[in-house]
Amino acid sequence: MSDDWKPGTKAVHAGTKRSQFGEVSEAIFLTQGFVYESAEHAEQRFIASGPDEYIYGRYGNPTVAMFEERIAALEGAEDGFATASGMAAVSGALMSMLKAGDHVVSARALFGSCLYVLEEILTRYGVEVTFVDGTDLDQWQAAIRPDTRAVFFESISNPTLQVIDIEAVSALAHAQGALVVIDNVFATPVYSRAFEQGADVVVYSATKHIDGQGRTLGGVILGSTDFIRNTVEPYMKHTGGSMSPFTAWVMLKGLETMRLRVRAQTATAQAVAQALEEHAGLNAVIYPGLAAHPQNALVQRQMGAGGTVLAVDVKGGKDAAFAFLNALKIGVISNNLGDAKTILTHPATTTHQRLPEDQKASLGIAPGLVRISIGLEEESDLVKDFLQALDAVK
Ligand SMILES: *Cc1c(COP(=O)(O)O)cnc(C)c1O
Repeated sequence: MSDDWKPGTKAVHAGTKRSQFGEVSEAIFLTQGFVYESAEHAEQRFIASGPDEYIYGRYGNPTVAMFEERIAALEGAEDGFATASGMAAVSGALMSMLKAGDHVVSARALFGSCLYVLEEILTRYGVEVTFVDGTDLDQWQAAIRPDTRAVFFESISNPTLQVIDIEAVSALAHAQGALVVIDNVFATPVYSRAFEQGADVVVYSATKHIDGQGRTLGGVILGSTDFIRNTVEPYMKHTGGSMSPFTAWVMLKGLETMRLRVRAQTATAQAVAQALEEHAGLNAVIYPGLAAHPQNALVQRQMGAGGTVLAVDVKGGKDAAFAFLNALKIGVISNNLGDAKTILTHPATTTHQRLPEDQKASLGIAPGLVRISIGLEEESDLVKDFLQALDAVK
């Protein structure tokens, strides 16, 4: 690969390794282990394995390495470690770097499982976690202390689509020596410039836009070679959350088309948000790409686009939201996002069900809130479907 390749070229070619057969498509090395030429060779490989020298599937695999190299090249990271799911990436990034007594500051508005890891798991191992309103820089400043080891946030939060200022929070964190760990799913690798903006570690659920067609679960942790090889890899290879070669092959295929899909989905999300913005049946349309969104200027500066997900607050609460969902003819009710199919989710009763009512209210997870992940369908068909489903709410 050449470093001056543009992202479109890297998405198709970066990280490609060919076997002696010279295959065009990436090979799936579906093997748990690798044969050594001799006992001495095995011994040597356990002392130090070089590039393209593998030991065991949990430690690394050629197909997985191709995915790691390609996504790292696209994101502008030195290195990456692929994981079995997005949550293996989030928990692996944090658990591998933290120890009892460390302090973490996190934005409060998080994907349900991320919140569980920070609130319930890290604290069980003696890590102190302070939650802040991620959009309020004064709260970050007040919470980050000299003993803060890491800050964590979703650059666009799930499901309320708050945008967090990566540059500003990174400056505050770095001033106290803390690492900046970003869950960047909603930004997508297409619009992310997180490393330029100050991130030390970026994690993705590859299940979302990287697969992009809802087939497999996967994730990746991206960062410096030192961090990935000396902090993340020992943790992941011994705890077992590594990506399977088959999944890596699906993800490599996904990366080839990700830029085309995500841009098309973003353009449709923007058009749908604008078409629904003034609808009388909605209390609100939340989409970072709308001029009315409180962080619209920030998202334009940080990403240059609003992303593929919007949310609407249907007037009439849960019953009205359910009536809207049940009347849809194209969008499906499920919980993935970044899929080629438009997917709608009612966070209050599904992904964020376990939260107490007051916490839902403070996070903006209203009873009428519906998250909409825009797919690759024709924009006019989607708008027509949403409008008829809103008409059905009575
Ligand atoms: C989906 C998601 C995850 C978890 O990813 P999985 O692949 O489902 O484990 C983490 N963070 C965010 C923001 C997500 O949307």
